[in-house]
Amino acid sequence: MTGRALSRRTLLQGALVAMAFNPASRSWAATLEPGSLPLPPLEGALLMDAASLTAAAEDFGHIVHRTPCAVLVPGSVGDIVAMVRFARRQGLHIAAARGLGESHSTYGQSQVPAGIVIDMSALSTIHEIGESSAWVDAGVRWRQLLEATLPSGRSPPTLTDYIELSIGGTLSVGGIGGQAFRWGLQVDNVLELDVVTGEGELVRCSPSCERHLFDAVRSGLGQFGIIVRARVRLVEVPPRARTYTALYGDLHRFLDDQRWLIEDGRFDYVEGAVVSSAGGWAFQLEAVKYFTPGAEPRDDRLLAGLGFQPGTLQVTDSSYFDFANRLAPLVAMLQQLGIWEFPHPWMDMFVPARSAAAFVEEVLSQTTEADTGQGPILLYPFRSAALTAPFLRVPTDPHVFLFSLLRTAIPPTPENVAALVQKNRAIFERLTAIGGKLYPVDAVPLSHADWRRHLHPYWERFEYAKRRFDPARILTPGQGIF
Ligand SMILES: Cc1cc2nc3c(=O)[nH]c(=O)nc-3n(C[C@H](O)[C@H](O)[C@H](O)COP(=O)(O)OP(=O)(O)OC[C@H]3O[C@@H](n4cnc5c(N)ncnc54)[C@H](O)[C@@H]3O)c2cc1C
Repeated sequence: MTGRALSRRTLLQGALVAMAFNPASRSWAATLEPGSLPLPPLEGALLMDAASLTAAAEDFGHIVHRTPCAVLVPGSVGDIVAMVRFARRQGLHIAAARGLGESHSTYGQSQVPAGIVIDMSALSTIHEIGESSAWVDAGVRWRQLLEATLPSGRSPPTLTDYIELSIGGTLSVGGIGGQAFRWGLQVDNVLELDVVTGEGELVRCSPSCERHLFDAVRSGLGQFGIIVRARVRLVEVPPRARTYTALYGDLHRFLDDQRWLIEDGRFDYVEGAVVSSAGGWAFQLEAVKYFTPGAEPRDDRLLAGLGFQPGTLQVTDSSYFDFANRLAPLVAMLQQLGIWEFPHPWMDMFVPARSAAAFVEEVLSQTTEADTGQGPILLYPFRSAALTAPFLRVPTDPHVFLFSLLRTAIPPTPENVAALVQKNRAIFERLTAIGGKLYPVDAVPLSHADWRRHLHPYWERFEYAKRRFDPARILTPGQGIF
């Protein structure tokens, strides 16, 4: 039995079993008292013990802590339908999270003060793997799906850098990785979705059926429905991957080469990072070519014309899986050192290519290694023509750069965290001024007006979708949009 399964069993054993909810006192009761309302029958469990509630008030950011009044560990999709309907009747907020204390949000996005958190990791079955798609529960992690599809030489086309994220979680935000320039984000590679709307209706949607819902929930930040199952695209992949990394001193040349590479398509994956160098910053290209043994990539052809610094090239071969799972050893080390549990006031931005050099230079001139806690700074482009989800807002430019300051707060004090969140906010103001957009998985305090501006010119459509699919506004309050 895995540690995960053990901890779930322990949680369920420790659970306080409620039968009813008292709307007057907003509390749960073990017996049906006058005025209290019976809970719907559940195949899973509704947890109210202190440990479960504390875990559900936690996420990767460790900055915001909002305690729910219950955690649903669903035994079936029917449990989610029943609890969403129940929450709607009681005026309780409800939201999905990857797992108890395992949400990768950084600013409370999946938390529900005094409401119900749904632990999606309880629904994690891979139902079907076909030639070109797989049907999976939303609580499945991308790593689990990949392990199941690779024996038949298939993979989701775009993978996040870290593949322990849940399928429902990344489909609710976007899901970007180094293959996005070719395939779009993960939301662009989902073919059908089963969604429990804010009205408690289970609806299957796709580009040809219930299109409005399909478009609303992809990058919909959990506002319109709980994604419970997804049919995600699969593509054939060779079994090996060759990774090339090389350094640039000149930001302009680095950005130009990255854009050139995503247009000419010689690599299968293009990313990049800002790295510290001699008291300043340098820029590291990371490009990958997949291959089959016996048909190794031609390094000279792949690297022709690139302007990186001589002597900085490194080339490594690995299996496709080890490439996709490349962060696992680093994460294990950070977990061992305890740094994984430090606060993470992340800043994730979509920057228009036309302003990228000036904006990146400006931000880096005000950023020190201490500001990032030596966390990575990502910088890589994708093509906006590959995007299909209306609520994933990116700048209007054919090329967009993901620019992410993946900060760890060291020291992990409230003062340092507050100062870093404030820096994020100041960068956000500058980003907005140049027509950039947030990738809203990060730690930036946003007002209702900020959200309206972020979603422009789709705000009315977003609000309409909220009225249509979640009229009581019970879903996912942690995003702070409504
Ligand atoms: C170490 C690390 C690496 C990352 N790498 C990448 C990366 O390479 N690319 C990238 O794009 N992102 C990346 N992210 C960001 C990640 O995509 C977001 O944090 C995202 O929220 C997914 O995390 P999760 O599965 O834990 O979802 P959660 O944090 O639990 O949920 C995210 C949001 O979606 C809602 N939600 C969750 N599940 C559902 C569902 N089934 N239906 C409806 N709403 C739902 C939640 O309520 C919340 O608002 C990374 C994050 C971390 C911490």
